[in-house]
Amino acid sequence: MEDRHILDIQDLHVYFRVYEGVSYVLDGIYLHIARGERVGLVGETGCGKTVTMKTVMGMLKSPPAIIRYDKVSLDGQDILKMSPKELLRVKGTKISMIFQDPMNALNPVFTVGEQLYDVIRFAQKRLDNEKNPSQKEIHDRGIAILKEVRLPDPERIMGNYPLELSGGMRQRVLIAMALVNEPSFLIADEPGTALDVTIQDQILNLLKELVENRGISVLLISHNLGVVRETTERAYIMYAGQIVETAPVDLLFENPVHPYTQGLLASVPSLTGGEIAEGIPGMVPDYTVAPSGCRFHPRCTHSMSICSEKKPSLTMIEPDHYVACYLYTEQKEQNE
Ligand code: SF4
Repeated sequence: MEDRHILDIQDLHVYFRVYEGVSYVLDGIYLHIARGERVGLVGETGCGKTVTMKTVMGMLKSPPAIIRYDKVSLDGQDILKMSPKELLRVKGTKISMIFQDPMNALNPVFTVGEQLYDVIRFAQKRLDNEKNPSQKEIHDRGIAILKEVRLPDPERIMGNYPLELSGGMRQRVLIAMALVNEPSFLIADEPGTALDVTIQDQILNLLKELVENRGISVLLISHNLGVVRETTERAYIMYAGQIVETAPVDLLFENPVHPYTQGLLASVPSLTGGEIAEGIPGMVPDYTVAPSGCRFHPRCTHSMSICSEKKPSLTMIEPDHYVACYLYTEQKEQNE
């Protein structure tokens, strides 16, 4: 029977041996994405979003990374147990990624066409039993995908070097490259962050439309709750390697309950004016001396003695809405 989740992560721990000791980054995270679902992973810089993404992409080298987990399954397969060859095949056909900085993601010494042709050739070969596609097939596919991402004059753009394109055009090229292998799962790491807000908005709308039309499942990584609200259906809030709250985005905005989520939302400037909140005092911890229990406790104004003793587990407080915080788990236990 087909697994209803394209991605299913259960109790994932990732740590690194470093000069100062052990950097304990991911502390038992649970995250799942249903087929066709668009999910956001939100948190401040340094909260472990990128380590999560690299784990899922099989990009963490072990050692130095040490990975412990109950399950990290992509499309029903344990991605961390795949051979390099299997992993390459999965990346070429099922899973794609969009990086936040298009200039670094594209090679400046090759034209867009040369880079796109390589991706298409690789994907077509994998999809068509290692049969080499003809040059015309590759070219036609390249033109078609550049049209789909609404790049004007695709023939000319094929011959351009990345430096000859604007930031928005480069981001569209990256989206084209990510979608050309018709993936079932896409990881988008802060797409458009390097662009100005109007162009970023266009890029996110385009991305949303393309993945919706294709039924692609998405994990969108962002520090921006507004972007996640516009682009995804459900979100996970991550703090210092722990998932602290998850809910459908509308519910999360209507009723944020974790003190960290409330702090993130209070830091978003309002379009209607008014004062900008001070934000969350303190900083994301050094992972070699990560706080015990709830890792947010040194920054939390509601902290109690139990918070530093034991990690709170994710508990359902209303349908589809889970939080890891003793303010709610205690109440729930008392009510039962
Ligand atoms: Fe604050 Fe305790 Fe809740 Fe953590 S568990 S967010 S420290 S009240």
